[in-house]
Amino acid sequence: MSYDVAKHREIRESDTVKHYRIRQLDHGGYFIARRRPFATLHDLIAHYQRDADGLCVNLGRPCAKPEAPQTTTFTYDDQWEVDRRSVRLIRQIGAGQFGEVWEGRWNTNVPVAVKKLKAGTADPTDFLAEAQIMKKLRHPKLLSLYAVCTKDEPILIVTELMQENLLTFLQRRGRQCPLAQLVEIGAQVAAGMAYLEEMNFIHRDLAARNILINNSLSVKIADFGLARILMKENEYEARTGARFPIKWTAPEAANYNRFTTKSDVWSFGILLTEIITFGRLPYPGMSNAEVLQQVDAGYRMPCPANCPPSLYDIMQQCWRSDPDKRPTFETLQWKLEDLFNLDSSEYKEASMNF
Ligand code: ATP
Repeated sequence: MSYDVAKHREIRESDTVKHYRIRQLDHGGYFIARRRPFATLHDLIAHYQRDADGLCVNLGRPCAKPEAPQTTTFTYDDQWEVDRRSVRLIRQIGAGQFGEVWEGRWNTNVPVAVKKLKAGTADPTDFLAEAQIMKKLRHPKLLSLYAVCTKDEPILIVTELMQENLLTFLQRRGRQCPLAQLVEIGAQVAAGMAYLEEMNFIHRDLAARNILINNSLSVKIADFGLARILMKENEYEARTGARFPIKWTAPEAANYNRFTTKSDVWSFGILLTEIITFGRLPYPGMSNAEVLQQVDAGYRMPCPANCPPSLYDIMQQCWRSDPDKRPTFETLQWKLEDLFNLDSSEYKEASMNF
């Protein structure tokens, strides 16, 4: 049994998930409450299994992780192009502007999501080149890409299957979430983006609709890199068209096509507003054209109702005009993690008192 210090332990009490952070001491050793350090993680876990000692409940067993199909299952000869007859579509679970998404099974029993790209939305050669890069991107907070079928149209993208997208989650089930859990969701996205940042990979379409979530409130970033290949044709028209996500896009990206990790950071700030408002459309009451013009002139979305000033401060940092002055995702991740660990010396309830 292994325990990862970087992860938050989840403890279930009725239907509430509470998070405690395991911290490391400079000279070695671990603690949840500073007054009770342990030499090893095993000692820490064993202690809290015996005695709740301030936690909401004794530690039980580690949460079981759902079995993820091995990528190698899908490959042969180091190739990951699979025969489309091995992918069975069961029911449609969504649709986007570039095609439909289906729940499916690979080789009759492995649950997968299958995105069917509309004919003509991507050049198969371009797509395959990008997909080769996307396949190398592996992180617990990124949606795993398992396989593709590019030999005929429609192109199929086979990925891990999730429950729903973050936007619909926020608008329904998410309303029950305490603030700390919402912030923790933001921290999970920042963790995945910090990995993309490290890999020098730009997402280009970061928004709640492109984040997927499962029943245990674990989120995964989806559609990374797809925006570039799908919008390649007639870039200008793509950027000025009605479907372009202006409200999520940094001004330098919207105006001059300067997409960078820092333009992703801008979008992340907008995503935080979606999280804290339970999926409200950003800049309510403003048209895309107004947003483009006003943001260029220095306007920023005001602090949403019920948003703690410390969280709004993070959003504002993401929206600095100079991209270089925006924080890195690595910084955003720890800032968000620290928001629900305000006082690391004491146990923290999952609900925050801002
Ligand atoms: P667009 O691509 O037009 O910007 P979108 O991102 O919502 O919009 P898709 O990526 O095609 O479009 O996904 C459509 C919907 O299908 C998603 O919103 C989500 O609800 C569902 N979906 C996509 N991928 C998965 C997956 N791996 N597991 C479960 N549901 C998924």
